[in-house]
Amino acid sequence: MKQTMQAAMLYGREELRVEEVPVPSVKSDDILVKVRVALTCGTDLKVFRRGYHARMIRPPAVLGHELAGDIVAVGPDVTNFHIGQRVVAANSAPCRHCYFCKRNQENLCENLLFNNGAYAEYVRIPGPIVACNTHEITDGVSYRDAAMVEPLACVIRGIEETGIREGDTVAVIGLGPIGLMFIRLAHLNGARVIAVGRRPTQLERAKRMGASELVTAVDDVDWVNQVRNYTDSSRGADAVIEAVGTPDTWQAAMGMVRGGGTVNFFGGCPGNSHVPIDTSLVHYSEVSLKSSFHHTPRHIRQALEVIRRSDLRSADFVINEAPLSDLLSVFREMMSHNGHLKTAILP
Ligand SMILES: [Zn+2]
Ligand SMILES: [Zn+2]
Repeated sequence: MKQTMQAAMLYGREELRVEEVPVPSVKSDDILVKVRVALTCGTDLKVFRRGYHARMIRPPAVLGHELAGDIVAVGPDVTNFHIGQRVVAANSAPCRHCYFCKRNQENLCENLLFNNGAYAEYVRIPGPIVACNTHEITDGVSYRDAAMVEPLACVIRGIEETGIREGDTVAVIGLGPIGLMFIRLAHLNGARVIAVGRRPTQLERAKRMGASELVTAVDDVDWVNQVRNYTDSSRGADAVIEAVGTPDTWQAAMGMVRGGGTVNFFGGCPGNSHVPIDTSLVHYSEVSLKSSFHHTPRHIRQALEVIRRSDLRSADFVINEAPLSDLLSVFREMMSHNGHLKTAILP
């Protein structure tokens, strides 16, 4: 077993270095995974630009959280896994005993343990994640497909919270990986999907995922009304998913929902953002406002099932691959235009 490995260390704002660091040591209930693929994610890019994340990662630390690989070491107290298994591990584990965990809201766990370190040859999966959020990858499922489990679990929970039903008209604003996953799942649930995005390439992808109406959101066009016009009697959509994370798009989302419908503000806005709310829309039109965050162990299991059925394939989301040494240029490329999907990093 090697003593050192290549890893992408985050030191601060846009300060990321791929360097030789010690291979993490494995304590009693941890496992060590040789990373076969790590997927880039908008969250990593956000953290890279900011230099830290109050809850998820404090530098210096190895970045990356969407991964799949092979178990190469297990702690002495691990009984449910063994060396050689192909596994996927989620990026967090709930504590299972706090106020929120006891009420099946593990996504809000007060002691949520986050794990980073996917952009490296090896990653340590801490005991709590081994216990409830690590799974063997079934035969026939690729590492790449499996590595999508974390964002997909968040989206599955978002669909559930929104209450999307067969025959619903659903508008999705934002066509990054998350928006596209919402379109795919809403379509598979029998909904009619209106996709809202800026770039022709994104809208083209949305169509491939099952969107039947495409609306280009350019500044000088009333695209909110264009969405309404695609709904029955211009009443508005039964559900609107906001997957951008800006106050403007949150506002736009409220403008395209029907009375009695649901808006899910899925995209997190920058800290200290505020959005005015039309009180009569919420009261007299009974619009429900939701905002789904993160996932639970149940949704991780459901996501793996969706992947196993090939309802969603990485080929539609992972458009590039690069060695670990190119990670910095991959991030710079992602920053230069926002129509990006995911890149498979191969350590
Ligand atoms: Zn992610
Ligand atoms: Zn908890």
